[in-house]
Order: sequence, then C-alpha cells, then structure tokens
Amino acid sequence: MRKNIVAGNWKMNTTLPEGLALAKGLDEALKGKTPNCDVIIGTPFTHLASVAAAIDTNKIGVAAENCADKEKGAYTGEVSAAMVASTGAKYVILGHSERRAYYHETPEILKTKVELALANGLTPIFCIGEVLEEREAGKHFEVVDAQIKGSLFDLSAEDFAKIVLAYEPVWAIGTGKTATSDQAEEIHAHIRATLAAKYGQEIADNCTILYGGSCNAGNAKELFSKPNVDGGLIGGASLAVDKFMPIIEAFD
Ligand code: PEP
Repeated sequence: MRKNIVAGNWKMNTTLPEGLALAKGLDEALKGKTPNCDVIIGTPFTHLASVAAAIDTNKIGVAAENCADKEKGAYTGEVSAAMVASTGAKYVILGHSERRAYYHETPEILKTKVELALANGLTPIFCIGEVLEEREAGKHFEVVDAQIKGSLFDLSAEDFAKIVLAYEPVWAIGTGKTATSDQAEEIHAHIRATLAAKYGQEIADNCTILYGGSCNAGNAKELFSKPNVDGGLIGGASLAVDKFMPIIEAFD
C-alpha cells in the first residue's frame, strides 16, 4: 500500500549554516522515534550535499526544489538532475506553483524535468493545483487533470509508479488559508480516479498524494485523517523544528 509522507519545502530560505542547523535539529528531534510516515526536507541546491552528509538520510530524505530541463552543457546557472542525484538527494520537487508562475514552467518543460529526474534515479514530488479564480469557477478538477496529463501521462506505468503527487491549491500556499479536509479529500479522490483511468486501480492506489497549502500543527491531523490524503508538502511550517515535528507526529 502507499506510503505516508511529510515533506518540507524550505524554498529560498536559510543560509547554509542556518539550513544545516535546521536539518541537524530535525535529525536530533527524530532520534529514537519511528514516525508513521517518511520524512523529507526540500532544501536550496547550495545546501543539498552538506545537509545529506550531516543527517541520517535513511530517516530523512533530502529533496531539491527544482532541476534543469536539460541534461548538461552550456546552460549557465542551471543545476541538472544528475548533479542533484550526486549530492545524495533522492527527491526533487517539480512543478511547484511558484515555479510555474514566476519562472514560466509549462507542462512540456515539466514533462522533460520529470523524465530527467527519473532517468537519474530521483523521485519527483510533482505539484499540481488551481488558482483561486479557477476554484471559484468550479474548474479545479479539470485544471489538475490537465496538469497531470500534460506532464505525466506519457510515462510508462513503471515510471509513473515512482511519482509522488502534491495537490497544492495556489490560494492556500503561504496564505494561512487552508483547504478544508473535505475539499482536500474530494479532489484527492478525483485525482486518484484520474490516475486509475489511465494506469489502473493498483497503481492509483499505490500513489502517494500529498496536500500542501498552509498545513500546520493545528490542521495536519484532520487533513491526514482523510483516506486519500497521504501526508503533506509543508512550506512555512517546515522552517522550524518545533513547527514541523507536530506535523510529522500527526500520523500516530
Ligand atoms: C508550499 O510552498 O509547498 C507550501 C505548501 O507552503 P505553505 O505551507 O507555506 O503554504
């Protein structure tokens, strides 16, 4: 059956010393504990190797927050999936709404990134989600379906089975406005049905679908109690151990 996961997304926060302190603090807080979920931290590129070397990566997986859509070569400033994998990171967050909105990442670009990530042994944590106007117009189901189909549905079943999805309504990210657990469950169940129609029920049932958007210690338990919500992608609340730990412990 599918895994539960709580994954942090630090975004463009923390200097290297601050990030190392945060990662080591989490490592320390997890000592002697066996959480009922996998724990992942998504860090800036500059931190990946040092963080992976400083913590027990069997207990805390390390994720990049992006990778290039090119394999290698003359792309100044870009970081390839192979480079990410060589740091000890095992995951890469792709398709975050901030990257789609500010860096114009299209479904086609994301499709290439997903393929390169998989080819380099990384697990993509692939983000989807609608903006407020789309939700208000009742278009959220078709928006997430288009995002999934546009970037993932050319994958073989074997490759698709490696993907983790994160449903993140854009109106809930960093806003303090969380989707209700019923809203999350409704769309997660819809997403799973979309996956089942393409790849069959077994692959759909085995796909971890995270919720992201102002998830915190106060609402995680309720969100994660829903049958199709398999954990969270956590932004702001992943930047402090005492805020992140209760979310991990929401799976009891
Ligand atoms: C995110 O950026 O993935 C996110 C969910 O952010 P926050 O938890 O701060 O809303």
